[in-house]
Amino acid sequence: MEEKPNQATELLELSSGKAEHVYYWHCGYYTSRFLLGLRDQTTILGVRCSACGRVYVPPREVCGRCFKTMNEWVDLGTEGTIYAFTVVKLPYVDPNTGLPIKVPRTDIYVQFDGADTRLMHWLDEGDETKIKVGARVKAVFKKERRGTIHDIEYFTQV
Ligand SMILES: [Zn+2]
Repeated sequence: MEEKPNQATELLELSSGKAEHVYYWHCGYYTSRFLLGLRDQTTILGVRCSACGRVYVPPREVCGRCFKTMNEWVDLGTEGTIYAFTVVKLPYVDPNTGLPIKVPRTDIYVQFDGADTRLMHWLDEGDETKIKVGARVKAVFKKERRGTIHDIEYFTQV
């Protein structure tokens, strides 16, 4: 069948079935230490390059500019500024739960004081008129933490 230009097409939903598997993977040293910082210290850890001084969060092993292995850990605390944000109004499936996310949800890039890279997370404000790039935010941690990025429940403006 020949499709005509501008002809509406049928939107299909496909399912590959339901499969439940418990699986684990190794996060590696740098991500593990970062996640342990969230779980055990309720703080954000970054790593500094001894050659250029650049601080990475989330931490990584090798500096992207110098290609040097980094071992100087930096406690960045829990506050920073909003570098960028977007308010999501169309729900999509949360890969952690398999359920649609609650909208509106504001995804943000947080620029921590003393860091040169940013961490993506979300903000507890869905009204874009109340959000400004450069606004101060702080991490709000869950009471019971498991060593995942979700130990930060959300960021809130301070
Ligand atoms: Zn470097």
